[in-house]
Amino acid sequence: MKRLSILGSTGSIGKQTLDVVRSNKDKFEVRAISAHSNVDLLLKQILEFKPGYVCVFDEDACIRLKEMIPDDIDVEVLGGMDGLKAISTLDDIDILLTAVVGMIGLVPTVSAIEKGIDIALANKETLVTAGKLVTELAKEKGVKILPVDSEHSAIFQALQGERYENIEKVILTASGGPFRGMKKEELVDVTKKEALKHPNWSMGDKITIDSSTLMNKGLEVIEAKWLFDVDYDQIDVVVHPQSIIHSMVQFKDSSIIAQLGCPDMRLPIQYALGYPDRIENTGLGRVNFSDVATLTFEKPDTEVFPCLSLAYECLKRGGTYCAALNSANEILVGKFLEDKIGFYDIPYYIEKVLENHMSIENPTVDDILEIDRWSREFVENLLAE
Ligand code: NDP
Ligand code: MG
Repeated sequence: MKRLSILGSTGSIGKQTLDVVRSNKDKFEVRAISAHSNVDLLLKQILEFKPGYVCVFDEDACIRLKEMIPDDIDVEVLGGMDGLKAISTLDDIDILLTAVVGMIGLVPTVSAIEKGIDIALANKETLVTAGKLVTELAKEKGVKILPVDSEHSAIFQALQGERYENIEKVILTASGGPFRGMKKEELVDVTKKEALKHPNWSMGDKITIDSSTLMNKGLEVIEAKWLFDVDYDQIDVVVHPQSIIHSMVQFKDSSIIAQLGCPDMRLPIQYALGYPDRIENTGLGRVNFSDVATLTFEKPDTEVFPCLSLAYECLKRGGTYCAALNSANEILVGKFLEDKIGFYDIPYYIEKVLENHMSIENPTVDDILEIDRWSREFVENLLAE
C-alpha cells in the first residue's frame, strides 16, 4: 500500500490521479489532497477518499471548506503555503504527487525532498525554475523524482535497464498544438478560445495555452535536461501530430527506444505511482496500428512559435534564465487568458524580461522566488506603460 499526498487534486492531473487510485484501492491510499479554491470538488473528494488532511491555499475558500465539512468527517483542514508544506511533509506518506500549476509547487516540493519523500512530478515549472537545486537535493537525499509528464515518462520508461551515460540524445515528441501548420499572420489575432482547443489532450488552461505557443515543449526541454542529465544540444523536438509515440531515446550505438500508447495521462500517472511495477489496467485504450495507419513527423516551426527557441536559449545561457523565462511566461499566459494581451505579446514580453534579467549562477530557493517577484513586477510595469 502506497500512501499519497496530492498537490492540486482538483485539476486535470489531480482528478486523473484520483481516478487511478479509484481503480486501485488495494494499492494506494490518499492521505492528503489540496486545491487553490475549488472547495466544492474538494469536499466531494474528501467524502470519497477520506484523507486525513486537506489544504486550501486561498484563505477565504479555506474558511468556507471548514464550514462545509460534516461533523462526522475527521479531516484536518490547513491553508496557505504553510498548509501546502505541511501536507507535503507528512510522516506517513510515501509519495508526493505534485500537480499544482505554476512555480507555486517549488517550495512544497523542496520541503518534501528534504524530508526524503519520493516525488511524482507533473508540475514541470518546479524543474524549469530550479532544476539544478532540486535534482541535486534529490540525489543527496536519495529521493526518486518520477516523471508524470507523458514525454518524460516515455523517456524514463525507455531508460529502464539502461545507463544514462549511453544516451546520445532524447527526442521529445510534440503534438504541434491547435495552430500547427499555421502562419504568423494567421495567428496574430487568435483568441484564447481558439488557443484552448487542443487537438489531442484535455488539460488545464495554462498548459493548454503553453501547448499552443510551443512554450510547453520548451519547458519540457528544460525539464528533460534536469531529469536525464543531458545537455541542451542532446535534446531534440519533433512534431508528431498523432501523439502515439510519447518520446524516444537515441543511444550511442544509434539504437532508438520509444514508448507508445494512446494519449491518456492516466498511463504516465499510474506508471509513476506504481513504479517499478506495472499495474494492469484494462480501462486504458490500446493502440490499434491498423486504425492509426500512419505516424508522421515534422520539424517544429520556430519562426511561428518563437517560445521554443527562447527556452533553448535560456537553457544554453544557464544561471537563472530559465526561472525568469518561466515566471514571465506564467504571468503573460495569465494576461492572455484574461484577454489583456495578444498571442504574440507572450514571446515579445518574455524577451524583454530576459533582456533585463540579472542571472545568478547557483541560486537558492529564495533567489528564485525573488526572480519571480521581480519578473512579475517588471511585466506589470511594461504593460502599464
Ligand atoms: P489545472 O489547472 O487543471 O489544475 C491545477 C491544480 O492546481 C488545481 O487543483 C488547482 O486548484 C491547484 N492550484 C493552483 N494554484 C494553487 C495554489 N496556489 N495552491 C494550491 N493548489 C493550487 O492544471 P493541470 O492539471 O493541467 O496541470 C498541473 C501541472 O501538471 C502543470 O504544471 C502542468 O504543466 C502539468 N502537466 C499537466 C498535464 C495535463 O495533461 N493536464 C500533462 C503534463 C504536465 P483549483 O482547482 O482550486 O484552482
Ligand atoms: Mg507533456
